[in-house]
Amino acid sequence: MTQPGGQRDPLVIKSLEFIGPMATADGWRPTNELPEVAFAGRSNVGKSSLLNRLVRRKAFARVSNTPGRTREINFFSVNGRFVLADLPGYGYARVAKARKAEWLPLIEGYLRASTTLRGVVQLLDVRHAPSEEDLQMLDFLAEIEAPTIVVLTKIDKLKRREIAERVHAIAVALRLEDDQMIPFSAETNEGRDDLAAALVALVEQPSWRAAPAAPPDPSESDSPPAESAGFPPPSAATD
Ligand code: GDP
Repeated sequence: MTQPGGQRDPLVIKSLEFIGPMATADGWRPTNELPEVAFAGRSNVGKSSLLNRLVRRKAFARVSNTPGRTREINFFSVNGRFVLADLPGYGYARVAKARKAEWLPLIEGYLRASTTLRGVVQLLDVRHAPSEEDLQMLDFLAEIEAPTIVVLTKIDKLKRREIAERVHAIAVALRLEDDQMIPFSAETNEGRDDLAAALVALVEQPSWRAAPAAPPDPSESDSPPAESAGFPPPSAATD
């Protein structure tokens, strides 16, 4: 589909369906084999706004923000082709320790166990240094070697020059290159297509968890390693 600007939309949404919530690490989760991408970030980072922009629906992510749903992982089927997993926001000051003890095992348990997961989109507010919990999350993703896309939200709140400075500062803090992060604004929609394209690439690559059918024989194989499939190596997130 061609957009007003004349570019092709990397992710045309033809169908979108709420499949259900996962409430505990050993609780219900989708049983289909569709590739999954999870979205993570602290509360208020702009995750719902970003998801609404991504799928071009005004109130798509509202389901995740309704009372009782904020502590669950909410799964959505997109175009019947992949599953979007909206993780509960973490780090909200008012969240009691007891509640944290609930969502941490849920998020970690899900991320460790999902065999269909292709990667994680980690959101950070462009205006702030990554929080302790953001860094823990990124460390965890590096530990399990999950391919990670870092999106910097709310860039409309800064001037152009400030955006470049903040992007660079966060890149230095995370030991990434500036161009490994996607600056984004739900206000202006800037970055939406870059994110959509990165997401599609992630969904289309094989799982980093997929076990090889047989031990690789270097003398016979001339295929490139899995991590060359158009995405930076997973460990790049915090290395
Ligand atoms: P969530 O808790 O991560 O789902 O965050 P929300 O999407 O609910 O956003 C939290 C607040 O930030 C709301 O007041 C949004 O209107 C605002 N917000 C989210 N994204 C943007 C953005 O890109 N630009 C601006 N200016 N505000 C944003």
